[in-house]
Amino acid sequence: APATAGASAWVTVDAAAIRDNVAELVRRAAPAQVMAVVKGDAYGHGIVTAARAALAGGAAWLGVAQLQEALALRAAGVEAPLLTWIFPPQADLGAALDAGIEVTVGSAWSLRSAVAAARERGQAARVQAKVDTGLGRGGVLTDWEEFTLELARAVAEGSVELTGTWSHLAWADAPEHPTVRAQQERFAAAVDALRRVGLDPGLRHLANSAATLTTPAAHLDLVRPGLAVYGLSPVPDLGTPADFGLREAMRVTARLTQVKRARAGQGVSYGHEYTTPRDTVLGLVPMGYADGIPRHAGNAGPVQVGGRRYMVAGRVCMDQVVLDLGPDFDGAPGDEVTLLGRGADGEPTAQDWAEAAGTINYEIVTRMAPRAPRVVV
Ligand code: PLP
Repeated sequence: APATAGASAWVTVDAAAIRDNVAELVRRAAPAQVMAVVKGDAYGHGIVTAARAALAGGAAWLGVAQLQEALALRAAGVEAPLLTWIFPPQADLGAALDAGIEVTVGSAWSLRSAVAAARERGQAARVQAKVDTGLGRGGVLTDWEEFTLELARAVAEGSVELTGTWSHLAWADAPEHPTVRAQQERFAAAVDALRRVGLDPGLRHLANSAATLTTPAAHLDLVRPGLAVYGLSPVPDLGTPADFGLREAMRVTARLTQVKRARAGQGVSYGHEYTTPRDTVLGLVPMGYADGIPRHAGNAGPVQVGGRRYMVAGRVCMDQVVLDLGPDFDGAPGDEVTLLGRGADGEPTAQDWAEAAGTINYEIVTRMAPRAPRVVV
């Protein structure tokens, strides 16, 4: 039986959309290469599915946050070049080395961990150096020159090979913001400092999706898009996915579980934050905040039923939301409803949900329906 048989709700992942989105990003970034970012279970799309689709679209690299995610990809047989940037001092970098995973060194301790793992294995660790050029998050911030000296010693003794140097932007989604230029300049200075101690910086990279789409000067040798891989716009004020040649890869479908008549004045859902303005039909959609439907989207989130769009009526519950379907609704329990679809076709989008809930489209897809089956098409 198909995964959707009898399911209340499911998530359809369009692997061809991921492949085509990456091909579009490859085209835009050339001659820079593309590292498809597949952290967070590929922003909720399924890490292995997304990794394979991204590679089919021409990604030369895969990027993940946690070392565990990188190891999971290797365990699934994904052999592409792979970079990780989040692990604690307790992490087993020897396992990363064995699996051919490149690790980011963005602090003295992480460089020393990589050196220690390399000495233990008798094999150079392939590392990428991370400089904090102004995000104020990961990477070496105030003592880059000191760090370059320690890195040069590790390279000279053969315990590490420096394959890349990278940073991350704070305001990539506002391309005119002065920090975008300033961070590019600080990055260039950091690369110069590496060269002054005789190091080749390897692949230089700085651009997330927003910078990939809006700031060609930041493309350098490699771009690191995440959100755009999944067909969402990182700059909704500047363009829709379709404007950038992208299409949404995630669709979320549920089945109505109840359709019933209600009188005017009926309070709906906890706290009665919605009251029916007239005699009407209420429908139950079996997804709630346990499925990643943001609770802040009460009386706001969009759901499409029979080609028409409705707003969630009242509060989002843990497992359900209610819709006021109007007095003339003629659907029935079991009918399919769309919570996320393709904006170009007028269906609700992650951006619509983000606006309804006061958040960003990233959070909508990343949290979507962990208990719902994934169907890859
Ligand atoms: N690079 C790094 C270091 C990240 O943390 C992320 C995700 O936030 C990305 C690239 C991809 O960012 P985006 O999804 O905005 O393209």
